[in-house]
Amino acid sequence: MKRTHSPTFDMMLVESDMEMAQILDDEYLREEHGLELIASENYASRAVMEAQGSVLTNKYAEGYPSKRYYGGCTFADAAEKLAIDRLCQLYGAEAANVQPHSGSQANMAVYLALLQPGEKLLGMSLSHGGHLTHGSPVNFSGRLFQAVHYGLNEQTERLDYDMVRDIALREKPKVLVAGASAYSRIIDFETMGKIAREVGADLVVDMAHISGLVAAGLHPSPVPHSTYVTSTTHKTLRGPRGGIILCSAERLKAVNSWIFPGIQGGPLMHVIAAKAVAFGEALQPSFKQYQKQVILNAQALSAALIEKGFHIVTGGTDNHLMLVDLSRSKVGAGEITGKDAEGWLDLSGLTVNKNTVPHEKRSPFVTSGIRLGTPALTTRGMMEAEMKQVASWIAEVLESRGNEAVMTKVHAEVRELCEGFPVYFDEHGDDHAEGSCCDPQGGCC
Ligand SMILES: *Cc1c(COP(=O)(O)O)cnc(C)c1O
Repeated sequence: MKRTHSPTFDMMLVESDMEMAQILDDEYLREEHGLELIASENYASRAVMEAQGSVLTNKYAEGYPSKRYYGGCTFADAAEKLAIDRLCQLYGAEAANVQPHSGSQANMAVYLALLQPGEKLLGMSLSHGGHLTHGSPVNFSGRLFQAVHYGLNEQTERLDYDMVRDIALREKPKVLVAGASAYSRIIDFETMGKIAREVGADLVVDMAHISGLVAAGLHPSPVPHSTYVTSTTHKTLRGPRGGIILCSAERLKAVNSWIFPGIQGGPLMHVIAAKAVAFGEALQPSFKQYQKQVILNAQALSAALIEKGFHIVTGGTDNHLMLVDLSRSKVGAGEITGKDAEGWLDLSGLTVNKNTVPHEKRSPFVTSGIRLGTPALTTRGMMEAEMKQVASWIAEVLESRGNEAVMTKVHAEVRELCEGFPVYFDEHGDDHAEGSCCDPQGGCC
């Protein structure tokens, strides 16, 4: 390797650690040359990565701005205050904590602030699209608390608020959790808030997947209806890997002390700086254009897949993702598993994840579905026409049931498409991802 392709480092790493430089370069090329359809992934801008790779990684700043346990925190304070201010502006929230290392840490701190060990939380079941941290027995949330679950309506495959209300009235949880990892429709946070109040519970909304859409005003905001809102920062929001919490000024103290000293030590100040940069990007008008296109692309992909004979759970999407139920699809006569589909598509240059479907009959390691999302492809500038092409490739590969020749052919075509939509640099080394904006009117910059 003569020079590195990666946008995040110069020759320093090549000189000091060739072995890791090579791995990072390989990953960079993997990201450039493949179609990223994992709904929870995105490409952070170079500005975000620059902040994340900055000197703030050296700083210990246990505590909160102006109340630190270490000296030398002037600029750490400035970075964290900027992140908090921008985040509150983005969501119209009174207060925020930007220190959670991940979405899971954000949820843990919120539960600990609201529940004693052994008390009850009601969340969406994992197999119906919820998240591990919403009370799964293999997660702290199901070990520390008594977890009960609601699922989807069998006919509509949608959330059924009457059913949620019935379960809430019967179970009397102390916390009601709304939010999902694999649900393609609008979630009615206002109704969830009413149900919570009716049973004397606090509503916690985990908007990890849709926080970019909420920021752009394209999904109703949970902020007015919830005691706490949590999110990741690296999914549709397109920032660095991490978590956040939003709440009222009055509720801040309790959750702050559960993040630190409750469950974390020093904050990742370099990541907090990168979060501030990402929130700044999300406040720009171009971010709203981007999120609009994310939804249009998801709808185009879903429609094209339906046309090819796939069953899309709920029949379509209102957000950035969709769930393909292969057991109910004409393609593959309903026999292809999520695991097979994931493997074959991977060999064809399309990255997806296997996913359980509502009323799943197979194990979580096999599954009957795949989950697809458009945030990453939209960041690289792809539009409806490319989504149609992606649907054709998926159909071709799965119809062939992983035929070697078909997969090789599709892989070459995928590579060619990707070269026309560079993520960070094109083949001349020109910079392509300044702010990674995508403007459907003016083309992509
Ligand atoms: C991704 C996700 C999380 C967890 O985020 P991590 O940063 O991976 O811990 C939590 N809740 C929901 C709904 C998610 O989709």
